[in-house]
Amino acid sequence: MDSLADLDRRIAGCRACPRLVDWREEVARTKRAAFADETYWGRPVPGFGPQDAPLLIVGLAPAAHGGNRTGRMFTGDRSGDVLYQALYDIGLASQPTSVSADDGLELYGVRVTAPVHCAPPANKPTPGERDTCRPWLVQELRLLRPTLRAVVVLGAFGWQAALPAFAEAGWSVPRPRPAFAHGVRVPLDGLDLFGCFHVSQRNTFTGRLTPAMLRDVLRTAAGAAGLPLK
Ligand code: SF4
Repeated sequence: MDSLADLDRRIAGCRACPRLVDWREEVARTKRAAFADETYWGRPVPGFGPQDAPLLIVGLAPAAHGGNRTGRMFTGDRSGDVLYQALYDIGLASQPTSVSADDGLELYGVRVTAPVHCAPPANKPTPGERDTCRPWLVQELRLLRPTLRAVVVLGAFGWQAALPAFAEAGWSVPRPRPAFAHGVRVPLDGLDLFGCFHVSQRNTFTGRLTPAMLRDVLRTAAGAAGLPLK
């Protein structure tokens, strides 16, 4: 089986979803004015973090001018500002900001990934694109399995995508499938799955998800994963 580094390289070369390939490359060509002098990544964005992580965070998909620009999950956009600040606050990140793939950020015992690795138009992948991308998440889960103890899934889309991936990767997922809710905790065999509202601008600007709420879920999940906390 591949190492996680091999898997990440293979993901970065994927062209399986025609609509998303067109979109990510078009965005990379046309750019946002504020980033006009940057070279966008414009490819699938692999997971980020150590290959022996006990804690995994599963989002939705890279943002057009965030991960699709910088090549790193949740990097270069507001959602990432919120997520990495919270990870830093509880001692799981080396710095509170994540602005570019070479900014020196290190994660401690936590990896960040997404069920869809390419930026979708309007941040909305289709169910077909979600299903096409699932094998990548299944392979990532299998590679992480020896150390993985807790997972935080950000938002209902990620939850719906993650549960079948866990089942396919060999975990026993209850039937009927547990519903997504903020703060929900579902024990799978040897692993605790947590739901958390997504760190989207819509949720954080409106106060639906506050920094304290995010820190609470991350802290509980990190505790379940056996990670030392600040
Ligand atoms: S979304 Fe996933 S399956 Fe589709 S092209 Fe991107 S990496 Fe490949």
